[in-house]
Amino acid sequence: MNASTPSWDWPRDTTGEILVGGQPLTRVVNAVGSTPCYLYDRQRLTARAQALRASLPKAVLLHYAMKANPMPALVGHMARLVDGLDVASAGELRVALDTGMAPEHISFAGPGKSDGELQQAVAAGILVNVESFREIKVLAEASQRNGVPARVAVRVNLPFELKASGMKMSGGARQFGVDAECVPDLLRDIAGAGLAFEGFHMFAGSQNLRHAAIVEAQTKCYEQALEWQDLLPAPIRSLNLGGGFGIPYSPGEAALDAMPVTDNLAALSDRLVRDLPGAHIVIELGRYLVGEAGIYVSRVIDRKRSRGQVFLVVDGGMHHHLAASGNFGQVIRRNYPVAVNGRRGGTETANVVGPLCTPLDLLADRMELDVAEPGDLVVVFQSGAYGRSASPRGFLSHPEAVEALV
Ligand SMILES: *Cc1c(COP(=O)(O)O)cnc(C)c1O
Repeated sequence: MNASTPSWDWPRDTTGEILVGGQPLTRVVNAVGSTPCYLYDRQRLTARAQALRASLPKAVLLHYAMKANPMPALVGHMARLVDGLDVASAGELRVALDTGMAPEHISFAGPGKSDGELQQAVAAGILVNVESFREIKVLAEASQRNGVPARVAVRVNLPFELKASGMKMSGGARQFGVDAECVPDLLRDIAGAGLAFEGFHMFAGSQNLRHAAIVEAQTKCYEQALEWQDLLPAPIRSLNLGGGFGIPYSPGEAALDAMPVTDNLAALSDRLVRDLPGAHIVIELGRYLVGEAGIYVSRVIDRKRSRGQVFLVVDGGMHHHLAASGNFGQVIRRNYPVAVNGRRGGTETANVVGPLCTPLDLLADRMELDVAEPGDLVVVFQSGAYGRSASPRGFLSHPEAVEALV
């Protein structure tokens, strides 16, 4: 897919109704029962995961990073399409285990794992990506209490960052992982505590659309891991190269070409057979797997003019979809792809704003849209990842957005 056929160009019927799971949006929303709502298209979820899985060699495991979208039904759907799940809290672990995914294929990363969460992780038998010296002490205790050694990998704060990343997760001073310089000491502690060492976790950055940058970072991570080979308490079984495959959010952005990345992973897994026999490469993706399969739907409450501009006031906004309002880490605010459902005839430049009493509650800033009236549905595309769960849902005490798999 390229910039001329954007992935948010969802099919429509002859009346202009956007088709979700093959059905007109109005009908889907009526079945769901209320707006605002998030709708996730099962077919799109399946197609994306299957295409990526098919382009990866067997020795590369594909995990779903749940924090991108932790809706239980969606995680259940994803669990059947991927090789494992990555969780970022005990709450996500609960949902992951409920899918029936084997604990062997669940991993846990996060800079602030509480003692209780680490206890739960050991008891459940999942892999913990260790991010501090304290975690080793707590895990040692938990291992004794549960009569089973904690399974651990070392999350490394790399000495470099992922170029052209929307959100950098390593390089410089970071709260994630332990600095590469400290890894030898940490490995010694792991061995001393009798924990079951399984490998490394290295995640350089999120929302990257440049395949060359991802390829470069993955290769560097691979080579970095080999440098510690003489210090390992046990052979590497798992080399997790993180997530970060991006999706486009505006017409000016070209979609990530994943082929060079999967080709590189294939090349690395060939080297792996020689360098680290018995090991797997793991990638854990959130946004790329689910982001394009979701839409956020709200209904126009009011339509007004102010000093020459049209404002469509809708019943949803930044309290459900912080990212679309441009307030989720974006440096420059750009409109998400937004469209009006159905066709009344004609287009106009309009602002789409939410009901909150703040100018930050903006879903579309002077976009060319089909003319809309109160009662019409407005859709924000590319909303399957970092949507509802990454939003300040309590702000102004409006009702929650319903979520549905379609
Ligand atoms: C958020 C996160 C991911 C997923 O990142 P995406 O950019 O959504 O692919 C993967 N691993 C860890 C540890 C994360 O925190």
